[in-house]
Amino acid sequence: MSETKIPYKIYLSENEIPKQWYNLRADMKNKPAPLLNPATGQPLKAEELSGIFCEELVKQELDNDTAYVDIPQEIRDFYKMYRPSPLVRAYCLEKALGTPAKIYYKFEGNNTSGSHKLNSAIAQAYYAKNQGLKGVTTETGAGQWGTALSMACAYLGLDCKVYMVKVSYEQKPFRREVMRTYGAEVTPSPSNTTAIGRKILAENPDTTGSLGCAISEAVEAATSNEGYRYVLGSVLNQVLLHQSVIGLEAKAALDKYGVKPDMIIGCAGGGSNLGGLIAPFMGEKLRGENDYEILAVEPASCPSFTRGKYAYDFCDTGNICPLAKMYTLGSKFIPSANHAGGLRFHGMSTVLSQLYDDGLMKATAVEQSSVFEAAEQFARTEGILPAPESAHAIRAAIDEALKCKETGEEKTILFGLTGTGYFDLVAYQKFNDGEMTDYIPTDEDLAAGFATLPEVPSQG
Ligand SMILES: *Cc1c(COP(=O)(O)O)cnc(C)c1O
Repeated sequence: MSETKIPYKIYLSENEIPKQWYNLRADMKNKPAPLLNPATGQPLKAEELSGIFCEELVKQELDNDTAYVDIPQEIRDFYKMYRPSPLVRAYCLEKALGTPAKIYYKFEGNNTSGSHKLNSAIAQAYYAKNQGLKGVTTETGAGQWGTALSMACAYLGLDCKVYMVKVSYEQKPFRREVMRTYGAEVTPSPSNTTAIGRKILAENPDTTGSLGCAISEAVEAATSNEGYRYVLGSVLNQVLLHQSVIGLEAKAALDKYGVKPDMIIGCAGGGSNLGGLIAPFMGEKLRGENDYEILAVEPASCPSFTRGKYAYDFCDTGNICPLAKMYTLGSKFIPSANHAGGLRFHGMSTVLSQLYDDGLMKATAVEQSSVFEAAEQFARTEGILPAPESAHAIRAAIDEALKCKETGEEKTILFGLTGTGYFDLVAYQKFNDGEMTDYIPTDEDLAAGFATLPEVPSQG
């Protein structure tokens, strides 16, 4: 076949925005393990979840069988404001590396929130609005999720309460102000607005907060206020479903030029962008139609896949959320300071955990300073200032392309560029000043986290 020149950016038209999300679970022979009620150890039923999440999202969360789910028109209309997102052939990076590999990236940072999280934020806000609810509550650490949700709620006229980890609230005032501009009520956590927050403050008045504590407050705010539900930006099955829009678009764009990726790479925090990017490709792999190498990239400081245990664990430090079977470092594991805030979760999506356990995908862990070296090289060649989270995928893609330089292999690599790094300039400053450090937890550090794994009655 004669080589068609691939454009630098492959754009789809508005009509090519997917009309349905793809639910990868439908094609999995080994389904992800069910969420358990921590009090009884039994699989959670829809009724138990519907006090926390809105009804349609509970359905999506528990549905392991429906392969395609219609995207409501109102969500597609919102997607049109910033989608389809470009698929870029990284010609400049390839040239700088001198590699025969062909590198593509799907760029999700082209919206004000600056990341892929908006794809699920609008869906979750839409279903809440559709159910006639007044508003939603959530937590945010680094702030990307809170920003995305604020944008979605502003669009739909829904109330949005964000519990922001106190240290981030103070250190990331710009994120906070973006959220407030979109109309969200942003509360530093722990706060006096919830019983759990008051309890934590009474015990430890000077605490700077944690994500686990902010989750506990957001869940309490949802369940104790009439007309509110809680929403979450990663990890959950429903979030992976919404994020499949990334992979569906990427595949449609590549198909136009007859390009088949050999390898697909994504950073993994809770697993939502990676789960979304690989969805249609993994579907083909599961159905035996095509084969792809799939690689998750995580920080060496928070290595859930590469050094974690596959076990039931709490999703939050406060241990009030359901138990999920996942690759985990233990809910009390506190990752060392790392600038990729979005990759600091102790566990991993149950869908990706099952796929990884079944040997259908691989994982690697990379150190922070090498991640920022990759970010710098990418910024200087491709022009985009990447989020530190996204730069994990860049690191792995560059390493793979350099391997191809050795072997002469013309591998086609696709990676997810999840967002931009404009709010991460303190981290870039540390890197530029040569002050970035790497920390890899010792086996003893990890053992302390594993010791907090709960005892769970076996599931027959
Ligand atoms: C939140 C975030 C991630 C990690 O979350 P996943 O659920 O693993 O995708 C990655 N990149 C960016 C820019 C983020 O904001």
